[in-house]
This record gives sequence, C-alpha cells and structure tokens, in this order.
Amino acid sequence: MGLRKSKIAIVGTGLVGSSTAFSLITQGVCDEILMIDINEERALGEVMDLNHCIEYLNRNTKVVKGNYEQCGDVDIVVITAGAPPKPGQTRLATLELSARIVESIVEPIMKSGFKGHFIVISNPVDMIAYHVYKISGLPKSHIIGTGTSVDSARLKNFIGELLNVDPRSVQGYSMGEHGDSQMVPWSHVTVGGKSFYEILKDNKDRVGNVDLDKLVLETAKAGWEVYNRKGTTYYGIATATVGIIKAIINDENKIMPVSTLLKGEYGENDVFCGVPAVLNSDGVKEVVEIHMTEAELLKFKESAQFIRESIKKIN
Ligand code: NAD
Repeated sequence: MGLRKSKIAIVGTGLVGSSTAFSLITQGVCDEILMIDINEERALGEVMDLNHCIEYLNRNTKVVKGNYEQCGDVDIVVITAGAPPKPGQTRLATLELSARIVESIVEPIMKSGFKGHFIVISNPVDMIAYHVYKISGLPKSHIIGTGTSVDSARLKNFIGELLNVDPRSVQGYSMGEHGDSQMVPWSHVTVGGKSFYEILKDNKDRVGNVDLDKLVLETAKAGWEVYNRKGTTYYGIATATVGIIKAIINDENKIMPVSTLLKGEYGENDVFCGVPAVLNSDGVKEVVEIHMTEAELLKFKESAQFIRESIKKIN
C-alpha cells in the first residue's frame, strides 16, 4: 500500500537552508526533503551530513539532493537562495539579485507541475515574496514570506528578559516590513493575558521607564547584532520557518506573524507585509486584523508603503 508522503524542497542549501533541513529532521516534521542548490556539490555535502544523523533521530527522514523537475509532488518549497548582505549593505541592497535568482527558481518549479506552497526566506523577504506570488501565478494563500516571524520572536525575547518571564508567555507581534520600518502595536502586547502597558504601570519600581521606541529599534536591529558578531543569522529564521511548515503540514490553524498579500486588510492592497495570520494546510487561511490605535496604524501603513515602493524596483 502506498501512503502519501509529506515532501519539502529546500532551494538554497547554504546556512539558512541547511539549518532549516536540520531542524526539520531533528523535529521529525516530514517524510522527505529535497535539497536543491545551484552549487550541487554544496547540496550533496549537506545531504550526506544530514543523512549521518539518522541513527540518532526519532524519525528517519529521507534527505536527498534534488532538482526542479522533481518538485511536481512537493508540498512546500522553501526558497532561501540568495546572497546575504555584505558588510555595510542593507537587506534591500540585495533586492535586484534576489529577484533574478528567484525567477530562475520559480519558473522551472512551476513547469514541474508544482501546486503546493512557497515559503520565501530570501531577503528582502516582503518584496521577494511578492515577486514569487507574481511570477508563480499561484493563489495568494500559497505564498508565505517569513516576514516578521523572527522579529516577533526577538521582541518576545526582549520583553521576556525585561520582565523575567518565559518569552513564550508573551503575546505580541512585530508587524510590517522585515526591516527597519517594522513596528510593534503595543496596545496588543500582553504577558500572561495582562496588557504590557498595565504591567509597566503596575511595576514602575521593577521595570523602570521603558523606552518602547528603543525596544522596537532593538528588535529591528537584533539580526544585525547577530550579523556583526557571526557574519549572518540562521538558527532563528530556520526555526521560525519550521514553525510555519508544521502549521501547514499538520493543518494547525496556528496564528503566526508572516508576510502575506493584503487585500483590503488594514486598508492595504497589493502588498506583502508582516501581519498575524491563521496558517493551515491551505497556507494563509486568513489575516488577523487587530484593532490598532490611530498612531500604530499610521506606522504600519508607512511600513507597507515602504515595501510597496521598493517592489516597484523589480516589477
Ligand atoms: P548562504 O550564502 O549561506 O546560502 C545561499 C545559498 O543559495 C548558497 O548555497 C548558494 O549556492 C545558493 N544559491 C545562490 N544562487 C542560487 C540560485 N540561482 N539557485 C539555487 N541556489 C542558489 O546564505 P544564507 O545565510 O543561507 O542566506 C540565504 C538568504 O536568506 C539570503 O537572502 C539572506 O538574506 C536570507 N535570510 C533571510 C532571513 C529572514 O529573516 N528572512 C534571515 C537570514 C537570512
């Protein structure tokens, strides 16, 4: 009897791609992983190394070197090909190059008959996710940018450290661009169900005067703090990506902040932007529209506008 197997392809088997594969096999998320890279030797080296884990894992995930023609029956393609920014460059500086790279990937994958989901990691992620949406022709729910998923995790870490609580007890999102213009709707941040504003008011002695703007800046810059020390980031984004993959594969209806096409939500149209969304086997089932304050909404819209303007450079 042939049971249907869950299959993930990872295109770009560098640091982010290989960390994603490693996280997938250690968590036993899927049955098979295809590793695809323009540098075939690199892909093969990663396949070999990952296969050397099998003996000590709970699940034998089949990891093989793949190609685009084999993507017809793949459930999810993760795109993480591209060049990380060079020292002094912004994520945006890699826009043109990343756009050309994803074109060379998405077109052959669509020719294979692929009908699954694309998860886009390549930076600048909001613009590149939009580009993948346009060139793939797939429904909007099938294209997910990792967006502010990793920024939101970083925000929760900061708040957790500040209050000395587990970051997983913090509810809140960084929204908008995965980049400098991202914003935090503080009116919706809660810790253990209590409003963050109320916590600050009730605990002035303990937490002092917290500068919320500085906290947003630190969240947006946290990736660069890692970059400055080790040259790039990969564990955080790989783990966030696996969170998205699990929500799809297991039909979880989990709410996560991801970059998705807005169609009227938050008064925005035709832009990929980091927002909380319900994720299940259909991909993005729906965008969660939180009711922001006027000032928050203004910041969110500025960030969306920045993404929209940047997209014009490649479309
Ligand atoms: P890396 O240099 O380690 O790996 C990139 C891989 O892409 C290489 O193996 C390279 O051979 C491959 N590649 C390049 N062009 C290709 C093509 N045309 N077809 C197939 N493969 C190709 O880089 P990395 O650190 O893994 O980063 C990869 C991407 O992920 C970058 O765009 C980076 O900015 C992005 N990134 C995003 C986030 C996020 O939060 N969204 C976080 C970290 C990195």
